[in-house]
Amino acid sequence: MPKKKDLFLVADFYCCYLLQSLAKQQSFYIGSTPDPIRRLRQHNGEIKGGAWRTKKDGCAPWKMVTIVYGFPSNIAALQFEHAFQHAHQTRHIPVATRISKSKVAGRSLAYKLGNIRLLLMAPFFARMNLKVQIFDRDAYEQWCANKFGARLPDFTFVDQGFAEMSEFLQYIKDKENAIFARLKELVVQGSHKCSVCSVEVDYTVVEEREVPPLVSVCYHAECLSVAHLTCLARKALVQEVEACNEAELAAGSQVLSRAQMFTKLRRTDLTQYSQASRNLLKERLEQGEEVSDAGFVNPVVPVKATCVECGRVLVWSAVVKNATRLRAYAVEPS
Ligand SMILES: [Zn+2]
Ligand SMILES: [Zn+2]
Repeated sequence: MPKKKDLFLVADFYCCYLLQSLAKQQSFYIGSTPDPIRRLRQHNGEIKGGAWRTKKDGCAPWKMVTIVYGFPSNIAALQFEHAFQHAHQTRHIPVATRISKSKVAGRSLAYKLGNIRLLLMAPFFARMNLKVQIFDRDAYEQWCANKFGARLPDFTFVDQGFAEMSEFLQYIKDKENAIFARLKELVVQGSHKCSVCSVEVDYTVVEEREVPPLVSVCYHAECLSVAHLTCLARKALVQEVEACNEAELAAGSQVLSRAQMFTKLRRTDLTQYSQASRNLLKERLEQGEEVSDAGFVNPVVPVKATCVECGRVLVWSAVVKNATRLRAYAVEPS
């Protein structure tokens, strides 16, 4: 039987990666893993395991070109991997904007990088605030050249600052651990009021069979405002609806589809918002257009939230990741 803690723990890091064959420049491999260093060594036959195809067809050795990371779960990374492998037919890329027209077409680095851009822009993935790390100089130049002119979401972080994967992974780990060390101290101290609903949150009194709530803690310096994750999510979603501009809605934009707003209305407790906000939501729902299949997004996940106390922006994927780690820590401190 798994330990209770294991039920709540997520991998600290999970990425989707792109390998290029050094022997055959037109050969690529797309996968996902929590450990890209070990995975590359497996593909190159240095250690056991890894995909059979990468060893048998004379493509080895492989080099790591780029990774996409920041996924809220390993499932999300697998979804990205699958869409990337099937860029010619995935529902995440509308037919009109596809650059890979068939399974075998577009076997060059420019196409692979173009497809990453198209997927980052897909509504489903755009909400995850994914980041891109490029390890190869030529690939970075091609990324910047952007052969297919694909747009990116506003907050997309793309970097080529690390020559070695190990340096990069250590940097990410150090950064996240430094933030997490601050957060966990606050939560183990005892009772705190949720900044949205004012109900007490206390991780120091977790019963054996109880599932503790997910808690958001502001990660900005000198703040540490606490809120239930669901409370903050509701607030952030309503703010998103309010901030949505009329032209986008009128154009049937994917930013907020009718289906999304409908789901928000059903799942959002509107009683705590002003009458004006509620009217606005309903009005927009009524004016909204039918949503296409390509417009599918996860309707209950905000992109970002605003800290109730310090007013600074919180990137949602980071909030969720910290909340998950905190809960695992609360169940079994380590
Ligand atoms: Zn609350
Ligand atoms: Zn704050």
